[in-house]
Amino acid sequence: MLNKERLIKEFEELVALPCESKKEKKVAELVKAKLQQLGVEYYEDNVNLKTGGECGNVIAFLPSNVQHLAKPIFFEAHLDSVSPCTGTKVIRKNGILYSDGTTVLGGDDKVGVASMLEAIRAIKEDNLQHGDVQFLFTVSEEIGCFGAKYCDTKKIKAEFGYCLDTEGQLGDIVYAAPKQYEIWVKVLGKTAHGGAEPEKGINAVMLASKALSALPQYGRIDAETTMNIGVIKGGTAHNIVPAECEFVIDMRSLNDTKLERLKDETIEIIKKSVSASGGKTEIQVDNSCPGAVVAENHPCVALASAAAKNLGAKEIHLQKSGGCSDGNFYCGMGFPTVVLGTGMSNIHTTEEYLKEEDLFNTARWVYEIVRLAGEGK
Ligand SMILES: [Zn+2]
Repeated sequence: MLNKERLIKEFEELVALPCESKKEKKVAELVKAKLQQLGVEYYEDNVNLKTGGECGNVIAFLPSNVQHLAKPIFFEAHLDSVSPCTGTKVIRKNGILYSDGTTVLGGDDKVGVASMLEAIRAIKEDNLQHGDVQFLFTVSEEIGCFGAKYCDTKKIKAEFGYCLDTEGQLGDIVYAAPKQYEIWVKVLGKTAHGGAEPEKGINAVMLASKALSALPQYGRIDAETTMNIGVIKGGTAHNIVPAECEFVIDMRSLNDTKLERLKDETIEIIKKSVSASGGKTEIQVDNSCPGAVVAENHPCVALASAAAKNLGAKEIHLQKSGGCSDGNFYCGMGFPTVVLGTGMSNIHTTEEYLKEEDLFNTARWVYEIVRLAGEGK
C-alpha cells in the first residue's frame, strides 16, 4: 500500500544528492539500487553519448501481469534540478516541505521521481493487476529536455504517457504545449574606425536595432502565440564601427500555421530592413521544441481524468501551457503525453516548496492510472 511517510523519507533521500544537469550520476545510481531492491527490470540507456552528461536515462519496466489487453503506458520524471541543488536539507513545517533556504527544494522534479518509486513499490506489494508500464527517469531536462529529446524512440513500449513535472494539483492536466522556434540572426555590416572614418563602415548594431524596431509586435502576439527577443550582442569597442551584431528570437505557438507565418514574416522584415541599409544577414532557425497537443478526448487524458476523480479531485482542469517540457518531445515522437500537476511550487528558487499532500497525491495518481489502465476497458 502507498505509504506517505515512506514517500517523504525517500523524497528527502533523493533531494540530498547532487543532481545538476549532466551530473545526475549519484541520483541515477540511487534510483537503480532501489529498482534492484524492488526486483524491477531496468536499464540505463546511453543518451549521455549525445548529452555529454555523466549518465543516461534510467528506464524501468513492469511487464503486464494480466491476460486481457491493457493499454501500455509510461510515466516520466527528470532526475536533474537547477542549482543550487546539492545537499538539500528538507524542513517539514505544517505539512509543507521546504529547503533550508540555501538550495532549491528539488521538488522539480523529485516529486515525480519519488512518486514513481513509491508507486512501483506499492504496485509490487499489493500484487496490483496491471498492463505494461514503463517508468522513465530522465536526465538534463533543465538545460533543454536532452534526456527526452535524445532517447531512443524504439525503446518506448507504450501507447501514451504522463510527465510528472508541473505545478498544480491532482486533477490538473496539461494537454497542450507550444511548438517553439529559436531564430538566430547575425547582422553583418562593415568595420571602420569610429572616430577617424565612420563613413567607411556599416554599423551592424544600428542595423540590428532598426530591424528589430521594424517588427510590428513582440511579447504576447495572441492567446496561443508569443515572441521574445531574449539576447542581443555585438561590437568590440567604443571606437570601432561594429561589423557584427547577433540576436535571438524565441517564438512559440500552439498553432503550427500561425507559428510558420510569424516565422516567415519576421525573417522577411529583418532581411529587408538590414539589406535596405547596406548590410547582410545570416539566419538560422532551430526547431527547439516540437508542439504537443493531445486531443481532449484522447484515452491519455480520459484515463488521467478518471483516476483523479476516483481519488477525490472535485474538478478536472485541462490546461494549456506556454512552456516546453519533456512531454513535447514524446508527443513529437508520436507518443501522446500530458503533464500532471504535482504540487511543486516556486520552482527554480530557494523559496521552492511542496505540500506533503501533493507529493502523496502524485504517487496515488500514478498508482490509480496504472490500476485503471490495467483493467483494460
Ligand atoms: Zn521540471
